[in-house]
Amino acid sequence: MPSPKVIIKLKRDKPIRNQHPWIFSGAIDKVQDANAGDVVTVVDSGNNFLARGYYNPSSQIRVRILSWQDEAIDDDWWENKLRQALSARQVQLQQVDDGKSVAFRLINAENDYLPGLIADYYSGWIVIQALTLFIDHHKQQIARMLMDMLNARGVYERSDVDVRKHEGLSSETGTLIGLPPPQSIEFEHDAGFKMSVDIQTGHKTGFYLDQQQNHVAFKELVASRPEKVRILNCFAYTGAFTVAALATGNAEVVSVDSSREALELAEANINLNGLDGNNAQLVQANCFDYLRDAELSGESFDFVILDPPKFAHNKQQVERASRGYKDLNMHAFRLIRPGGYLMTYSCSGAISRDLFQKIVFGALADTGKQAQIVRHLSANDDHPVALTFPEGEYLKGLLLRVI
Ligand code: SAH
Repeated sequence: MPSPKVIIKLKRDKPIRNQHPWIFSGAIDKVQDANAGDVVTVVDSGNNFLARGYYNPSSQIRVRILSWQDEAIDDDWWENKLRQALSARQVQLQQVDDGKSVAFRLINAENDYLPGLIADYYSGWIVIQALTLFIDHHKQQIARMLMDMLNARGVYERSDVDVRKHEGLSSETGTLIGLPPPQSIEFEHDAGFKMSVDIQTGHKTGFYLDQQQNHVAFKELVASRPEKVRILNCFAYTGAFTVAALATGNAEVVSVDSSREALELAEANINLNGLDGNNAQLVQANCFDYLRDAELSGESFDFVILDPPKFAHNKQQVERASRGYKDLNMHAFRLIRPGGYLMTYSCSGAISRDLFQKIVFGALADTGKQAQIVRHLSANDDHPVALTFPEGEYLKGLLLRVI
């Protein structure tokens, strides 16, 4: 039986040898006997083995690499790869063993050498996203293996993401194995409070797990302040930063989001933790408008958080996105009292950390204020970035002290 093969053009093999996991159409000379979703052997122009990956002619990323070794992609391979990803989450797995209801990322796709596969854990439930055709074909097997490894109650699929269109796939959601999840699941956040999530309809897989340690850092910062602080949490979603601040007993927080459902959950999360609702104002608004209006009405805050959604989905959108980030940050700077802090993020993969810092600098320059970088912020440790895959570093942030 002929085995599917992808032959790389002369002198286009270097990124593959350097273990970048994507092969674009332009690097490919010939494709032999391969159908969409097949495992293929990738060879250089001299027919030397380079890698084994999976193929999809619908996507500009024709091949995603599964291994740089000449090995079979069989059940043992899957088992090893999943276990390798889990072995990087031993602290969290120990918490699960100890009966704690934690939430964390299990598998971070390309960055855990499993391209196209996201898996998160929430108090006994696993949520997976199959971003590519090959992973879609294998999702039942993956679900079964993860369910066994974690002794989970059920595995729910949240493959309702736009990137699947590039693979010729439509949205799919539903229980893959085990019990269907309840509408709300509670977990113990690393910052020492409870959070309720809806894994069936919430953003991403229900929660922004990538921000968990930043919620912890924010709570510590608020707790360290000598006096009660006034905080503006823009793009608050279900209130993780809000609850983190309120839990210190040292804050009053205005939380702004355009989504009513998100704010309802934020309110539920405040109540779930027995926190004083009098210190929490929830505002359904566009943050761009809110910031402008707050400035006009002479408001001021000790802390402002800006954690907007992805503004740039590709390189073409970078310029427009940059203007958006600049606008937000400029208005935020103006609202911050002397000695106050700005925690500002971009989760656009197309905007580098360097560029983001330049944009924020540009925003500051327009205000005539000064600011110091206190800390560079990144995604949680359970969202590692493969060193050979810079595209994996999408979340970047700055904690700034404004003078
Ligand atoms: N900081 C949150 C995550 C924010 S996600 C956390 O740590 O959990 C981004 C949020 O921005 C979403 O809740 C979305 O509803 C909201 N959003 C998107 N565009 C908006 C806009 N223009 N104004 C206000 N909220 C917006």
